[in-house]
Amino acid sequence: MNLTQKPDRPVRLAVRGLSKTYGTGAQANRVLVDINLDVHEGEFVCLVGPSGAGKTTLLRCLTSLMPPTSGTVALDDKVLNGPSEQISIVFQEYTRSLLPWMTVEANIILPLQARGIPKKEATTRVEPLLHSVGLPGTARKYPWQLSGGMQQRVAIARALITEPEVLVMDEPFASIDAQTRLELEDLTRNLQQERSMTVVLVTHDIDEAVYLSDRIVVLSKNPATVQEIVEVGLGDTRDQITTREEHRFAELRSHILGQIRAAQSRGPVPA
Ligand code: ADP
Repeated sequence: MNLTQKPDRPVRLAVRGLSKTYGTGAQANRVLVDINLDVHEGEFVCLVGPSGAGKTTLLRCLTSLMPPTSGTVALDDKVLNGPSEQISIVFQEYTRSLLPWMTVEANIILPLQARGIPKKEATTRVEPLLHSVGLPGTARKYPWQLSGGMQQRVAIARALITEPEVLVMDEPFASIDAQTRLELEDLTRNLQQERSMTVVLVTHDIDEAVYLSDRIVVLSKNPATVQEIVEVGLGDTRDQITTREEHRFAELRSHILGQIRAAQSRGPVPA
């Protein structure tokens, strides 16, 4: 597998020497150690690794939801010291991230209102966005009137209303049924291409990582480092049937599964 080839595009997110330890002293849990990673403009990168490796921890540090113990994350060469308006996040648990007492529209405009944009102006952006996530005419509904897949589309719309440069997604389709999951994968890739967004997505589903990504970052465990970066090379146009039938798709799936198993079976590294 090719570890060195990099897209010929500017670096959007740069992670340098990032480490994270939870707790201190005898209770210290070294989760991430010396993570270095460049994510390029308009690139789709998936993070995979054994369960409990530290994928969510890395996303939290990337988005400044949590400070790293050491190291930096820079967006467009500027080191982040707190959440950036240019980075939006979609979580797995749409039932907890959408506010059930607010309409779809009210949920979607929340990030704009937090930035002081008047409600009247904010609402004009809602219907075109609902159209682009495949939910036209649902602005007046409440989240609980929608299916799980539709609620996650609302969460994606809310993340996009600020027109972020970077979209970070933490297992966004893990609670969605299999058929809808494929539709949301295609929606996400199409939105990423249309908007030339940089996307970093955590998934435990290797097929999903191969289908979506330009590059896949495999994390090791105990503590996690970047074990391998895999160039996917399946082209810009993906199709749920034909792409998954390609020889390279199967080759990548087996390779990454082998890497994750190797990481899983490795014991803790002494501090
Ligand atoms: P993954 O997303 O790869 O499953 P996580 O980032 O959720 O992994 O967790 C990695 C490790 O960090 C686990 O050992 C987990 O118990 C620990 N951990 C995660 N969040 C916290 C936290 N807020 N406080 C203490 N330990 C945590």
